[in-house]
Amino acid sequence: MRRFGPTIFAEMSALAQRTGAVNLGQGFPDTDGPASLLEGAVEAIRSGVNQYPPGIGMPVLLEAVARHQRRFYGITLDPATEILVTAGATEALSAALLALVETGDEVLVLEPAYDAYVAGIALAGGVQRPVPLRPTPQGWRLDVAALRAAANGRSRVLLLNTPHNPTGTVLTAAELTAVAEVAVEHDLVVITDEVYEHLVYPRPGDVDGPGRDVPLHVPIATLPGMAERTLTVSSAGKTFSVTGWKIGWVSGPAELVAAVRTVKQFLTYVNGAPFQPAVAGALDLPDAFFTELAADHARRRDLLADGLRAGGFGVLPADGTYFLTADPRPLGFEDGTDLCRRLPGLAGVVAVPMAAFCKPGSPTHARAAPLLRFTFCKSDAVLHEAVDRLQRLA
Ligand code: PMP
Ligand code: GLN
Repeated sequence: MRRFGPTIFAEMSALAQRTGAVNLGQGFPDTDGPASLLEGAVEAIRSGVNQYPPGIGMPVLLEAVARHQRRFYGITLDPATEILVTAGATEALSAALLALVETGDEVLVLEPAYDAYVAGIALAGGVQRPVPLRPTPQGWRLDVAALRAAANGRSRVLLLNTPHNPTGTVLTAAELTAVAEVAVEHDLVVITDEVYEHLVYPRPGDVDGPGRDVPLHVPIATLPGMAERTLTVSSAGKTFSVTGWKIGWVSGPAELVAAVRTVKQFLTYVNGAPFQPAVAGALDLPDAFFTELAADHARRRDLLADGLRAGGFGVLPADGTYFLTADPRPLGFEDGTDLCRRLPGLAGVVAVPMAAFCKPGSPTHARAAPLLRFTFCKSDAVLHEAVDRLQRLA
């Protein structure tokens, strides 16, 4: 692990603290989740839910995850064997990679890639095989030909992420179908990171109605031939704005979940007892909670996108997550990494360089080199302040 230093998020948040800049780098909300959720954890602590929970997670949470998957996606899961509670999505991902990847096995991974994927593959002794997303006027899109070319006899796992961090891309039905075809053809297990499942937005101008191509989150496990080869990962952090609670889960076929459980029990054994019943309650919140969450973030995305454009940046369309891609080349900046270091001084704002999510030397790294990732999961006042400051660059 020598090549891994402090994460880009730690580095950029430290820079924001040191300089007093507005932090639109690390993606964490500046307001807490629903009051009933917070009270649920306090209540659980007061009522003595403070010792080791069961190894697979508390039944109340396993059952709530099963209900959630049925309600939103029509997926049926046995809470006793097909779901495992983990220390955030991060542990689910690392434990799944450790369980499934042998030394030298190749893992196909969308690039740009969330940093924990690369590290998780390295922990397992696997080899990262990047599959490019390309920046286009329609946002970052999957290069399907490159995906087909990347799969080979050593491929073991395909690590998917939609809605996608850092690009904000929500894979289309056609893109997902291509992924599923490659997975079936090469007999891959798909590990799919769906932590942003409830953060999907209409394009500005789109109305939700028949005949309109409004983006929608589709779990790849619902595609033909995929349920039996897919481990689906999610977490409470993003859906309920409690990124510090680190309650996640992984679901899929009993045999695969059992393999992940074997690893998880020696990584953390169990985790977060009093948070588990609280998250269980939140998963049962009415539909209005989830639609308001998305509508609220869609508004913030538009606020930041409009502000960045007014400040002279190019902005790529993004249909989900907490993140937007900004292109500073129209302002005369060619190197996103250099600009991120200077941005606190130039404008009093922190962003994350897109290149940090790419393998040095890869074609995607070259395409990402000028670009910046900004988060919009902040209160309106913070976003307005950041946008005002960024006008100084023009
Ligand atoms: N996957 C992605 C794509 C993320 O952006 C994050 C971070 N927030 C995680 C996983 C980690 O989730 P958790 O905090 O539940 O471990
Ligand atoms: N997922 C968040 C982001 O991408 C934070 C991740 C982290 O701090 N490890 O900004």
